[in-house]
Amino acid sequence: MKYYSTNNPAHHVSFAHAVQEGLAPDGGLYMPEFIPKLSSNVLESLHSMTFHEMAFHALHPYTSDDMSDHELREIIKKALVMDAPSIRLHDTQSQHKNIFFLEQFHGPTLAFKDFGGRFMAQFLAFFRQQANKPLTILVATSGDTGSAVAQGFYGLEGINVCILYPSGKVSKVQEQQLTTIGGNVRAIEVQGTFDDCQALVKQAFNDPILRAHGDYTSANSINIARLLPQMLYYFRAIGQVQQEFKNVVFITPSGNFGNLTAGLFTKFMGLPIEHCLAAVNRNDIVPQYLLSGKYEPKPSVQTPSNAMDVGNPSNFARLMALFDNDVQTMRKHVSSYSTSDEDTFVMMKEIHERYGYVADPHGAVGFHALQQYAQSHILSDETAYIILETAHPAKFGDVVEQALGVAPELPERLKACMEKPKQALLLESSYTTLRSYLMQS
Ligand SMILES: *Cc1c(COP(=O)(O)O)cnc(C)c1O
Repeated sequence: MKYYSTNNPAHHVSFAHAVQEGLAPDGGLYMPEFIPKLSSNVLESLHSMTFHEMAFHALHPYTSDDMSDHELREIIKKALVMDAPSIRLHDTQSQHKNIFFLEQFHGPTLAFKDFGGRFMAQFLAFFRQQANKPLTILVATSGDTGSAVAQGFYGLEGINVCILYPSGKVSKVQEQQLTTIGGNVRAIEVQGTFDDCQALVKQAFNDPILRAHGDYTSANSINIARLLPQMLYYFRAIGQVQQEFKNVVFITPSGNFGNLTAGLFTKFMGLPIEHCLAAVNRNDIVPQYLLSGKYEPKPSVQTPSNAMDVGNPSNFARLMALFDNDVQTMRKHVSSYSTSDEDTFVMMKEIHERYGYVADPHGAVGFHALQQYAQSHILSDETAYIILETAHPAKFGDVVEQALGVAPELPERLKACMEKPKQALLLESSYTTLRSYLMQS
């Protein structure tokens, strides 16, 4: 499989190249040349496969030019250490028995980004095996991405991670997750905003003196090695329900639309997906696009489901490539619904009262998208409606407490990290200070 840049379809590179470069030099995103179809044999027997076997079938067509089957299996073994079970909701008012929450938060940082983060780290480490100097990953984070990436790279030989985060502007849980990893991961607490952190990282990449001194990469969130592994939990969910249901509608809470794009890949690979719903909060650029056919990015607004506060979704270029820039084609596969802040709280309460399930605000936005879809579509008993629960409720404990009156319990692995001492270097927002720190260490 070759990968092309969404800004220039004639620019083709290998998987190894795309993973190490992240963003194409012309600013485009890497896309597979085509979406491979899986054999009906594989598609029909997902229910009898282990998660690792499924992952192999899903990823193999995308990576087989760049590594052996054995090497891919080894990467899967190291990266895929968490499950993604679908939890069936039991409705006390006994309307539907076919609504599920697909829990994507069983990884180390309690959100679905662990899947992409861990795989990207393993792929990058694999392609760097022959390198003779260490690689430093520089990431600016506003909270969640940094810890998922850092956890993924933790303990990998020949790779160091430097996370820059804005002092006082991430939640307590997020800060603990960023600053207690240790080992090859260092946290830098910048006296500035997230934009300052991002600007510092950009300056570092544009600095020839620093680049001559060592190898640096951004392990960018648009890296194709982060996108592809997000296909796996769609496979896992289908494997779980395919003996009982003919079809699935997936509801994906969306910000940069990476998770949704991965789901659409699996639809084109042949998974029995009837339709995809992209659930968004008040940042409603994509539902507006589906209505009007005009893409109008806006500055993001703050909401209780803040991991989706995105005003210009980075994967929109990939969606356009997938649908040949045609809004009509996109409408056939995707519907998108927006949810207000108030309804996000109402939904969390309703899910809890009706099903006894504690959803996080992102999952609640997903639930509301399904309700909106059901107003104009009759839900079928032969279809499973699977909402992606993208984060553990304890990760957004304040919001959940506000909705339900009680705070969700912290899972053990989060409790442990809350008790560890914070280790971070406090740095003024100045590039010269950052550079001298990086060159010394
Ligand atoms: C990142 C994130 C999302 C949005 O995912 P995209 O792939 O950017 O659309 C949704 N929920 C949570 C909890 C996230 O961390």
